[in-house]
Amino acid sequence: MQVTTTITEIRAWVRQARAAGRTVGFVPTMGALHVGHTSLIDAAAERCDCVVVSIFVNPTQFGAGEDFARYPRPLENDLALCAEHGVDTVFAPSPAEMYPRENLTWVAVEKISEPLCGRFRPGHFRGVATVCTKLFNIVGPDLAFFGQKDAQQVAVIRRMVADLNLPLEIVVCPTVREPDGLAMSSRNQYLSPQERKEAPVIYRALQRSAELIRAGETDSAQIVGRMSEVLRQVPGLQIEYVSLVDADTLEDLPQICGRVLVAVAGRLGPTRLIDNIVVDGPAK
Ligand code: AMP
Repeated sequence: MQVTTTITEIRAWVRQARAAGRTVGFVPTMGALHVGHTSLIDAAAERCDCVVVSIFVNPTQFGAGEDFARYPRPLENDLALCAEHGVDTVFAPSPAEMYPRENLTWVAVEKISEPLCGRFRPGHFRGVATVCTKLFNIVGPDLAFFGQKDAQQVAVIRRMVADLNLPLEIVVCPTVREPDGLAMSSRNQYLSPQERKEAPVIYRALQRSAELIRAGETDSAQIVGRMSEVLRQVPGLQIEYVSLVDADTLEDLPQICGRVLVAVAGRLGPTRLIDNIVVDGPAK
C-alpha cells in the first residue's frame, strides 16, 4: 500500500492507474477509522479496480469552539486498517498542502445545507462541499463512497455533483451500528462509560418513529412527541433537533409521505451525536 501526502504524488498515481485501464474508487475520511469506514472501503473494492482513501481532518468544516484540535488522529492505526482492507493508496495531506493560501473560493449548496445540522453548525456544509470538490479534483475518481450515517452530507454532495456536472458517481452505503444500535462514529470515543451506555437511546427513538409510521401514523408532530418521550429517558441528552423531512430535498414534512428521513442530533456531555433512518411513508 502506498501512502501519499502531496497532490502531485496522488495525481501521478491515479494517472498511472487510469493509463493501465483501472477504475478508481475513492473513500474520503477524516481518519480515526472504524467499521463504518471499512465498510465503505470494502464496497469500493467490490466495485472498482483500485481504492484510494483520503485521511484529512478538514479545518474548514469545523466551527469556532468545535472539536478540530482534539479530533482523534491515530494515523498508524488507520494505515494498518487500510492495508488490511486492501486499499491501494492512502492520501494523507497536511492542512498546508490542501490550503496553501487563504481560501477565497467556496462551494455552497443552498437550501439543502440549511435545515437540520446546518442550523447548528453554520459554515459546516460549505467546508464539506469545498473540501470534497477539491478532493474530487485532486483524485479524479470514477466512484466516491459515502455513508448514510451523514444523511445531510450525502444530500449536499449528491446535489453538488449534479449541479456542477462533476464527472463521478456517488455511492451511498448503509449505516454500520454497534450491537446495541449506536451508529459507529469516530466521536464515540469521547463518550464516558456511562454516556456510552446511554447513547443508544437515539437509535431507540428512531426505531419508535419507524414503528409509528408503519402502523399508519402520518402526523409528524405526534411522531416527534413520541420520539421525545424515548429520548427523555436520558436526561443528560441535550437534543438539537428531531426532524422528519423529505429524504431527497430535506424539506419539512408535517404530514408523512414518500421516503422520509427521520433525523436526530444531540449532545451527550461534550459529544455531539447524529443518527438517522429512512422510512417509507404512504405514497405521495
Ligand atoms: P468521517 O471520517 O466521519 O468524515 O466519515 C467518512 C465517511 O465515513 C463518511 O462518508 C461517513 O458518512 C462514513 N461513515 C462514518 N460513520 C459511518 C457509519 N457508522 N456507517 C457508515 N458510514 C459511516
